[in-house]
Amino acid sequence: MPQITRRALMAAGAAGLAAPALGQGAFPTRTINVIVPFAAGGPTDTVTRLTAEAMGRDLGQTVVVENVGGAGGTLGAARVAQARPDGYTLLLHHIGMATAPTLYRRLPYDAVNGFETIGLVTEVPMTLVAKKDFPATSLAEAVAVIKREGDKLNYANAGIGAASHLCGLLLMKAVGTAMTTVPFRGTGPAIQELLSGRVDLMCDQTTNTTEQIRSGDIKAFNVTTAERVQSLPNLPTSKEGGLPEFEVSVWHGLYAPKGTPAEIQQRLSRALQTALRDEKLVARFADLGTAPVAQDRATPEAHRRFWQADIAKWKPIIQAAGQFAD
Ligand code: ASP
Repeated sequence: MPQITRRALMAAGAAGLAAPALGQGAFPTRTINVIVPFAAGGPTDTVTRLTAEAMGRDLGQTVVVENVGGAGGTLGAARVAQARPDGYTLLLHHIGMATAPTLYRRLPYDAVNGFETIGLVTEVPMTLVAKKDFPATSLAEAVAVIKREGDKLNYANAGIGAASHLCGLLLMKAVGTAMTTVPFRGTGPAIQELLSGRVDLMCDQTTNTTEQIRSGDIKAFNVTTAERVQSLPNLPTSKEGGLPEFEVSVWHGLYAPKGTPAEIQQRLSRALQTALRDEKLVARFADLGTAPVAQDRATPEAHRRFWQADIAKWKPIIQAAGQFAD
């Protein structure tokens, strides 16, 4: 470096100017890992892979997705909470980040204070789906079968704390009948069991069920949001199907370990915002029944506010249901 430049930089550094500028330019210098706390091939995995690819283009580095499934998403979350807070290990999780702090009275990490928020990503409708030969063609008929068959029916989910668990709880509460729950490390493997008819029913995000519903390989009875989904226009809402209280949508957010420097959080958040404007990502999200969040929700502050409010929202519901994982 020419002498003059170094002297100029040192002077700027002494004035407190050089360090942040250099720091921002320096990150990231290598591959970033994003942990998905569910198995590959499922809906959280799909959202993460699309987001990671687009973020990588903005960051000029590869963003690699790693699946750490199990225990309703808490194993993957724990891995990230315990990682170095340097921006190179991230977590893309869903609504489970709001339910686990109440569902699990003991967790191997601080479920509320163990993370920095980077930004919200998307909110995805869920669908109630069944194996192809399930003896019902509407939500009302499915409810009648559930009432009649009860625990003879196998309901697949991704473990306690998963969105499919939560959705199943809402369904069983609304119907007033329990089914036998069969947990998987994610709904990617669970949907394979549904396709082969080894389990009967499941709730899952449209990001994992749209193609199989369209091809007729599984049955779908309703979408769990207030409005119908454009990509599956014939599917009634829970309310239209007669179960208005069976409503939930699955939000996803990007996290970093507690203590990740603020400028790195901001850099990642900017990359997330850019990714969520990416035409290819927006088109694929739309085809799978979802859309990126508004840009002002893909920020650390908006994400933290929303997450904390959602913990408070689910706490009394879970406590009233008496549902705990431990
Ligand atoms: N959809 C799953 C859930 O029930 C998770 C996944 O595999 O993405 O939470």
